[in-house]
Amino acid sequence: MKLYNSLTRQKEDFKTYEEGKVRMYTCGPTVYHFAHIGNLRSYIMEDVLEKYLVYSGYDVNRVMNITDVGHLSSDADTGEDKMLKGAKREKKTVMEIAKFYTDAFFADCGKLNIKIPNTVQPATGCIPEFIEMVEGLIEKDYAYIAGGNVYFDTSKLKEYYVFNNHDAEDLAVGVREGVEEDTNKRNKTDFVLWFTKSKFDDQELKWDSPWGIGYPGWHIECSAISMKYLGDRLDLHCGGIDNAFPHHTNEIAQSEAYIGHEWCTHWFHVLHLNTSGGKMSKSKGEFLTVSLLEEKGYNPIVYRLFCLQSHYRKSLVFSWDSLDNAAQAYDKLIKKIATFDANDGGVDMAVVEEYRAKFNDVMGNDLNTSLGITALYDVLKAKTNGATKRFLLSDFDRVLSLDLLKAADALKEEKEEASEEDAYILEMIAKRAEAKKAKNYAEADRIRDELAAQGITLKDSSQGTTYTKA
Ligand code: AMP
Ligand code: ZN
Repeated sequence: MKLYNSLTRQKEDFKTYEEGKVRMYTCGPTVYHFAHIGNLRSYIMEDVLEKYLVYSGYDVNRVMNITDVGHLSSDADTGEDKMLKGAKREKKTVMEIAKFYTDAFFADCGKLNIKIPNTVQPATGCIPEFIEMVEGLIEKDYAYIAGGNVYFDTSKLKEYYVFNNHDAEDLAVGVREGVEEDTNKRNKTDFVLWFTKSKFDDQELKWDSPWGIGYPGWHIECSAISMKYLGDRLDLHCGGIDNAFPHHTNEIAQSEAYIGHEWCTHWFHVLHLNTSGGKMSKSKGEFLTVSLLEEKGYNPIVYRLFCLQSHYRKSLVFSWDSLDNAAQAYDKLIKKIATFDANDGGVDMAVVEEYRAKFNDVMGNDLNTSLGITALYDVLKAKTNGATKRFLLSDFDRVLSLDLLKAADALKEEKEEASEEDAYILEMIAKRAEAKKAKNYAEADRIRDELAAQGITLKDSSQGTTYTKA
């Protein structure tokens, strides 16, 4: 498969360290609030990537962290502690909100058909691993202690800005407007590995360490957790584009300094979901969640389709109109699929291979899900029998996860039930008419009441009897 690599800034053949096996790491959510549908865009596209790799025959081992400590609002070493902010907002402990929003995140993933990675590791469960890595970095002279904190020394690296061609000055966190400078740092781009002296006197979660009681920086968690479960050769690392700097940049710096060789060969970044007002973000406070979509009557899978309709390397603007378009497209799609009969012929493998090749051409070309959806529509129009179409739809849905056959079969069943119910009502109306004719009004009333108890109201007119269902 060809996949764009943020590290080399080009599409390349996806290769793995061990043949047939993918070691994949995903930056998990910071669990101080509900995930918004922007965060979930990233997780949907990463899910499709994982499923497409499996579809292509790879054995994928995927690990994700849960950030429940260390993530500050600047994404660097300044600002408020996000978890603490969430706990104060809700007058709960950090661990209480971590549990609540971790569960909420996985509930959302379930609704969007996002598979849970093989391993999910909360950061607070790996403190000894973080300490070990920080100790290793100090021993190798890549880290120093200043003002009570442990810092990574970025001047020891040959290259620090691995992902971009930007002017280093633009990106240096220390000089970002409105962000206070940390005078303990030897270089502007140095970052905290372990905090012991911090401005968060009320920091709730603290651990003992060789440098005093404190807590880990955010970046160290992903390096240590991925190494714990996936070793020191990573094939694929994913996240939203805002993670590229400083988070992933710092992950690479400390990981490669620690292991002494290249760490992860392929970096996959999903562009943002924006609203007309700009990037959707949790810190702004106003954002859309899966529950809100449901409250407004949308099937969450419609949002998944909306995401798949565009390429992960383009930013995507959310609007209710475009979600409505996706909802209509999904309804039409499912109605069409419901007309295909599983008993119509046998599966024609030549046709299957032809359409699979079309799907692979586009999905294997930098995960072009938008053309993947076109390939799906091509199946609907194919000159072949129902059994073959259903086979192909179920095959593509191993990757797309749009509940194609499930939703179509449910619709069919609903229709069959509805027509069975209609047949029953018509039979009752006929019986009532007979009873009336025979002047058996008690029986006629009994039938009317029996239907009423089921929410079916009869209305007599000169044209006959009609009915409405509650
Ligand atoms: P967080 O919970 O803030 O740590 O973010 C979880 C994931 O969502 C990260 O991979 C972010 O890069 C990603 N992300 C954040 N905002 C957006 C957005 N508006 N669109 C897409 N992905 C996002
Ligand atoms: Zn991470």
